Parts: sequence; structure tokens; C-alpha cells
Amino acid sequence: MTSIPHITLNNGVEMPRLGFGVFQIPDEETTAAVSTALTAGYRSIDTAAIYGNERGVGRALAESGISRGELFVTTKLWNADQGYDSTLAAFDASLDKLGLDHVDLYLIHWPTPARDLYTDTWRAMEKLLADGRTRAIGVSNFQPAHLQRLLDHSGTVPAVNQVELHPGLQQRELRAFHARHGIATEAWSPLAQGAVLKDEAITSIAARHEVTPAQVVLRWHLQTGNVVIPKSVTPQRIHQNLDVFGFELTADDIEAVASLDSGMRTGPDPDTLN
Ligand code: NDP
Repeated sequence: MTSIPHITLNNGVEMPRLGFGVFQIPDEETTAAVSTALTAGYRSIDTAAIYGNERGVGRALAESGISRGELFVTTKLWNADQGYDSTLAAFDASLDKLGLDHVDLYLIHWPTPARDLYTDTWRAMEKLLADGRTRAIGVSNFQPAHLQRLLDHSGTVPAVNQVELHPGLQQRELRAFHARHGIATEAWSPLAQGAVLKDEAITSIAARHEVTPAQVVLRWHLQTGNVVIPKSVTPQRIHQNLDVFGFELTADDIEAVASLDSGMRTGPDPDTLN
């Protein structure tokens, strides 16, 4: 079985560099998908309250027989639940659905800047961390200005910022901010939901290394320093997406992928989603 390398987060917690995302998988199909992923060797699972499949994830974790210490479970606070008290209540509800007594990473899903609640929300996240109910706290879809505001209001630097990131949206400025402040970059839609897999630059690199375009893109993320969480419900792809530790992209390959950065967002703009 592939052993997945880890990164050390800014509070010392170890996180697998490659995990399994479950966005858009209906709850009743999630248990099968997560079970396939766990059998293949994934140990990190990324869900969210809004995905409606925390129960399905929890069932797969329970059925797997894998010890809790080997697993890394991330879930996210939905926008409607931002605010101090509502964050604590939403966390309890997520934990109950997952059937766990703690998670490994809890994220604020979106900053929703016009609602101006994320600093209060962050205080609740800090309490959950202090109480040992989550091993690390972080954010998702935060732009540099949102991160700076959190840093100005709090002594706890987010361990992770999970953002849309793929060859079409390489987030250079944000990644540089993360590097300056010790925040790990986690890429959502790492494959741009498939939109980058037909690019000539990607397919020609794949042919040269005798791997698939998805494997090239995941390898690019790993060599760029990103944590990745590809999603698939297809067993063959679930296995394939984990099989990315046996080859290395060259400096020329990395440069060719760099040229694909076009600012292409497939999801909402974090500055305006409220
Ligand atoms: P991905 O970039 O992971 O792409 C998933 C799509 O690509 C699916 O349609 C899947 O098809 C297909 N696919 C997967 N593997 C392969 C492969 N090897 N070859 C060809 N096609 C493939 O998109 P997601 O948006 O799901 O992002 C990944 C995870 O990131 C989510 O599941 C979620 O956990 C997280 N996320 C977080 C967000 C946030 O706001 N924080 C927003 C969006 C996602 P199929 O399933 O049919 O095999």
C-alpha cells in the first residue's frame, strides 16, 4: 500500500499531503466511496456540513476498523452558522453526524466578508481547539485581506487555508502570503473538476511519463507544496489518484504547467460570496 507523506502544520499536527474529497457525493453513496478510498490507502477525508454527507463519511470510518489515530478528518462550518455561539452548536452537530469525539481539522468554509462575522467565529474555533475537540483549526476561501484581518485580531494563525487551486488558478500571491505566515495551502478542486485534464501541456507531459493527466496535475500540486484532496466516485480513479508518488515532474514540466495559469475560477469568488 502507498504510504502517503505528511506535512507538519504550524501547531505540530501531522496532516497527509493527499486526501479524499467528498463534495457532491450524496450521503447514501458516500459510505461506499469513502470505504473504497480507505481500502486503497487514503487516510484523510475532507467533508463539510453543507455537503450533507457527514453521516455517510462517519459510517465508512466506523466500518473500516482503522484506528482513529491513523485517520485525519476535516469538516467545515457552514456560512449560516458563523458567529460565536452558533459555531459551537454547528460543531457539535457535525461531530454527532460523523460519530466522532474530535476532528483533526475544522475550517471556516467561506469568509462571507459582508457579514463580518469571521473574527467572532474564529474565537469559537480557538475554543474548540483549546478544548481538544479539534486538533487544528483553519479557514477556507480566505483571501490575503481576510487572513490579515484574522492575524490582526487573534494570536492563532490558521493552520490551513483551503482554496480553489489548480493549473488554471495557481494563486501565487495567496501562496506567498501563506509561506510568510506558516499557513499550509490546501487545494480544492485540484483537478478543476476535470477542466484542465485535456490541456495539451498536461496531456503531453502525461504521455512522456506514461501516467494519466490527472496524475500529472496531482503530482504538480505535490511538487508545488500543496495539500490535495481529489474527489472521485470511480474506484479506478480513486486508486489512480493515490498512485502519484512513483514519478517526478522535471523543471521543464513544472514550467509548462506554470504557463497555464489564467485566473480561471470554477467556483464562487470569495470576495463576493456572502
Ligand atoms: P476535483 O478537482 O477533485 O475533481 C473531481 C471531478 O474529477 C469528478 O467529476 C471526478 O469524476 C473527476 N475525476 C477525479 N479523478 C479523475 C481522474 N483520475 N481522471 C479523470 N477524472 C477524474 O473537484 P472537487 O470540486 O470535488 O474538489 C475536490 C474536493 O475539494 C471536494 O470533494 C471537496 O472535498 C473540496 N472542495 C472544497 C471547497 C471549499 O469551498 N472549501 C469547494 C469545492 C471542493 P468521478 O467522481 O465521476 O470519478
